[in-house]
Amino acid sequence: MEKETAVAGLVFDDRFLQHNPGLYPLWSTGGPYPFVDPVLHLSNHRLAMRTKHLIDLSGLGEDLLRVPAARATEEDLLRVHAAEHIARVRELSAAGGGETGDGAPAGPGSYEVALLAAGTGIAAVDAVVAGPTRRVFALVRPPGHHAVRDRGMGYCLFNNVAVAACHARARHGIGRVLIVDWDVHHGNGTQEAFWTDPGVLFVSLHQEGLYPAGSGNLDEVGAGAGRGFTANLPLPAGCGDAAYLAAFERVVLPLAHRFRPELVLVSAGQDACAMDQHGRMCVTTDGYRRMTEAMIAVADEHAGGRLIALQEGGYSEIYGPYCTLAVVETLAGRRTGMPEPLDPGRLAALPPSRAVGMDAEAAIGAAEGRHLSRGRSGG
Ligand SMILES: [Zn+2]
Repeated sequence: MEKETAVAGLVFDDRFLQHNPGLYPLWSTGGPYPFVDPVLHLSNHRLAMRTKHLIDLSGLGEDLLRVPAARATEEDLLRVHAAEHIARVRELSAAGGGETGDGAPAGPGSYEVALLAAGTGIAAVDAVVAGPTRRVFALVRPPGHHAVRDRGMGYCLFNNVAVAACHARARHGIGRVLIVDWDVHHGNGTQEAFWTDPGVLFVSLHQEGLYPAGSGNLDEVGAGAGRGFTANLPLPAGCGDAAYLAAFERVVLPLAHRFRPELVLVSAGQDACAMDQHGRMCVTTDGYRRMTEAMIAVADEHAGGRLIALQEGGYSEIYGPYCTLAVVETLAGRRTGMPEPLDPGRLAALPPSRAVGMDAEAAIGAAEGRHLSRGRSGG
């Protein structure tokens, strides 16, 4: 629709690469793999590094406004996290690393990097509120959406998107923030942060039963004043572009339009992509383009175009960077024509690209019924 040169911003900082979660432990023993070559932690630096490299190689980097990363303050973090958790991450990091909670290891110096990741969401909010850009992609690590108030979880130390949303409300007087989380895992930390808060509509699409165990069910809808402002869409494994786009059209977009957000945030983990090591979904670069277009349309209609996507998970070193490039290209309003590793024609012909499967139809129908049927009043 909009064809003016849509300038988007990018936040990336080499210091993001310095967070080192170490080796990937075997679930059974907690020890290393028996291979001669060490197996790096899946949340290692390489995916973000390759993604930034690809953005630069594509030539898109020249179109993007560079938004500097910034360090979050303790006050910023305290809006979401307990002081004890912040202190624990700081101490472990200074002592050379350790477990910050549940599957969220810090390495030496990770505290500083995590402060920078959380502060980057804040810098992105400041950039879209003040201009000159309305759209920002924040290529941060470590990711954030699993981190809860009192501990790290699932590779996440501090909840970057939640800290950004709280900053927007506290410092810019933004009343309604929409957070759409399309990472293949449930954004449990973000859900917890805004569970009773009607000022943040949190919508998570994720593979059902993945991680965290037992989290992200249809009946988790918030509580108290926040009841109805959390919406989960657990989807069966194997969903591709068709199911994701149907879920957007039938559930995510109606909820978003009813809420009329003043700022749109996306927890953009591209681990629902067709080659991911954690997810069992089949989303393609085309799917990510179309989901991004949908978010742009919501932001343009209600939020003065203000849209920030923050990197969350994503583990395919081959396909993941191309999926993120597709998101950033769409934010920037330009296709670079970078040749892709998977044949788009073949991907488009796959059943999950073309049609909503029966299990997916049941899941989307259930979410539609749960979140939209009772006609909650708008706003
Ligand atoms: Zn994930």
